[in-house]
Amino acid sequence: MRSGTTPPWLEDDPVPPKSPLSIWYHDLYTMGIDPTARFPRDRYKMLEERIRDAPLPSPIEFREPGLASADDLLRVHGPDYVDRFLSGRLSDREINRIGLKPWRSSFTQRTLLIMGGSISALEHVFQHGGISGNMAGGTHHSHADFGSGYCVFNDIAICAKIALEREDVERVAVLDLDVHQGDGTAATLRDTPGALTVSVHCEANFPFRKVASDFDLPLPAGAGDSDYLDRVQEGLDIVSGFSPDVLLFQAGVDALASDALGKLKVSRSGMRLRNQMVLSHVVDQGLPCVIFMGGGYSDPIKHTVDAFLDLFADAAIANGRMQRTTGLGGRHREREAV
Ligand SMILES: [Zn+2]
Repeated sequence: MRSGTTPPWLEDDPVPPKSPLSIWYHDLYTMGIDPTARFPRDRYKMLEERIRDAPLPSPIEFREPGLASADDLLRVHGPDYVDRFLSGRLSDREINRIGLKPWRSSFTQRTLLIMGGSISALEHVFQHGGISGNMAGGTHHSHADFGSGYCVFNDIAICAKIALEREDVERVAVLDLDVHQGDGTAATLRDTPGALTVSVHCEANFPFRKVASDFDLPLPAGAGDSDYLDRVQEGLDIVSGFSPDVLLFQAGVDALASDALGKLKVSRSGMRLRNQMVLSHVVDQGLPCVIFMGGGYSDPIKHTVDAFLDLFADAAIANGRMQRTTGLGGRHREREAV
């Protein structure tokens, strides 16, 4: 991989995949945020259009999420926080900490749709194997009783808890490659047996008070492709040693050099190689994988959208390859059969 050779699942293959990559998406991912907000809300809509228009080598289908339930949220979050969010009673201080201002009433529905999209993507890989994704989410700064850094509830932790409730799942790994440390995921899964949290991030960046993951792999500001990919490989080696039943991949692209918040200097090709390293591991292991989109704040935002297009295009190829080599169920289905 590091030598720049094309991994086998990216070679031209005339056999079409049995099924497309399913990713969950809703118009409210963009429209639920006020147009004057600092958050670059258009990235979702732009990416949806790019995916629809791009000549992709392997197909992607959009699916519309349903709303997550209060019970889904309560797997991770405190009842008081959940209740006050759902009834529009968060304090100004709490809203400031989340940072998605000005607050809109549609934001409640948007949040529940994003959580629902991640849960549906998780259920999809348990049913069909392979890879699925949510075209939002990866809200790793959300803690049990408060939101932070554009994150209200923590869909990664909720998915980990749901997965671990299954009889056929013993271990869930979270590989968080967003440039910001996954403090909320680390905190909410710290005492969860069977959950592994790994975070590769820029040390000199938000959150400034970090919560220790099981494994934190920090990088100094200004690090480029080579150092970044070395850390990603370390993270993958840790995941591999844990032998999870499912991988939750926070695939934020804010480590790009063009990112306004990232402080790292990763190129678009380096970011793509990162994704291919993870996807190759997933294919090789027949490991069901859910992709959470995570952060990306390039200026102009086009660079973020380009990198997410690369991500989902390569994930579609990997998903097709998994379903050809291991059957629709992948490793998970094989385990169920024995
Ligand atoms: Zn981030």
